[in-house]
Amino acid sequence: MPDIQLITSQDALLNGHQHHPRLKPAKTWNIRTNSRNPIRSTLASVTSAPPSTTKTLINLGLGDPTHYPLHPPPPASITATREALDGQRHNGYVPGVGTSAARKAVADYHQRWDSVQYHEDSIVLTHGVGQALDLIFSVLFPPSHFERTNILLPRPVFAQYPTLLSNLGVEVRFYDCIEENNWEADLAAIERMCDEGTRAIMVTNPSNPCGTNFSASHLRAILAIADRHKVPIIADEIYGHITWSGPFIPLASLSDTVPIITLSGLSKRFLLPGWRFGWIALHDPLHVAGSVKEGMAVWANRFFGPSSVAQAALPAILETPAEWHNEVLAKIKLNAEIMHEAIKRIPGLSCTPPAGALYMLVRIDPDTFPKFHGDVDFCTALYREEAVFVLPGECFEASGYFRIVLASPADVMGEVGVRLAEFCNRHRRE
Ligand SMILES: *Cc1c(COP(=O)(O)O)cnc(C)c1O
Repeated sequence: MPDIQLITSQDALLNGHQHHPRLKPAKTWNIRTNSRNPIRSTLASVTSAPPSTTKTLINLGLGDPTHYPLHPPPPASITATREALDGQRHNGYVPGVGTSAARKAVADYHQRWDSVQYHEDSIVLTHGVGQALDLIFSVLFPPSHFERTNILLPRPVFAQYPTLLSNLGVEVRFYDCIEENNWEADLAAIERMCDEGTRAIMVTNPSNPCGTNFSASHLRAILAIADRHKVPIIADEIYGHITWSGPFIPLASLSDTVPIITLSGLSKRFLLPGWRFGWIALHDPLHVAGSVKEGMAVWANRFFGPSSVAQAALPAILETPAEWHNEVLAKIKLNAEIMHEAIKRIPGLSCTPPAGALYMLVRIDPDTFPKFHGDVDFCTALYREEAVFVLPGECFEASGYFRIVLASPADVMGEVGVRLAEFCNRHRRE
């Protein structure tokens, strides 16, 4: 009669706990959590001691164009939001995937600027591209105990990708972008790394942190590999149209076969990162990615999308005229030129002229600066001595580099150039 045994021992546990000889010692609190973020510790080490100079701090760490600020936001972002608030018709819950009007506005925007036709049903609105990434990763990657899967990421990499993926147990495989080739992707590596478990290839274009704008032929070469292996591409195009040497070419506009999961939003091109507004748009020319579309809608319903007020204002914001975008672009381009000229004149530093996005990666020649042990050490000293905060390459899997954000007014950029030159003059090997 095994049941009696069970009841007896349960009884002992419930009633006899104070004197039961086999009870373990009283437990102490030990709440275990899952909260890794590798960048945090790198940042903490760069800023662990305050600057030892009276110069004002220049913070070029975050890619936030409102920090200094570069340019006022699109006028429609203010007027249309005010109207949405005043009308009091946009205070309720909206569908998880977003309102029909806002999704249609996204489709129209991509039609106008990218000549890509997305069906309204293939668009899901999200809290920034950050949540779009989280959502599409959740759709594509089952828990690792079900199936072994992998994703191909570019290196240098936008750190949020591996951070989000680390929770899913998916294997991350990095393909290098090669500076000598204008930071183009190592196509042979992509070809080699694709296998049965590959669920997606990530392409970040224009690139954070490389500042590249891929050519049509390079994008076509990536598409050809994806087509051979039948792997969809996630195209992070949050910097779409922020390019100045050559036009921006949306990946979806080139694909007749490969499903392209395009991610974009208001954070960069519309200078509204705090609004947390992004979207996923699925381009599926052969209708082979129905499960992705379905999965997107299912996962979108776990949360309701961005604020109803912002959704109501979206159509007007997305119709911001080209003239406004051109004003912003001219400022970023000027910054890129100022910084590139400054770096060129500093022996021991070098960089590929940026062509897009809001960044450039600067290489630190280790032979010129032997006293620094890598990019974190270099950036830490730069912060202490010159009060210039830039992110070390380590944050992007790009050791030996640091990243400059090109989203501050031109005089700030000029001052960074001056301070960098002084710093490097002091520390260059004799
Ligand atoms: C800034 C950035 C984003 C935008 O993220 P949001 O969550 O929309 O603010 C996405 N991808 C890359 C590569 C970025 O640099």
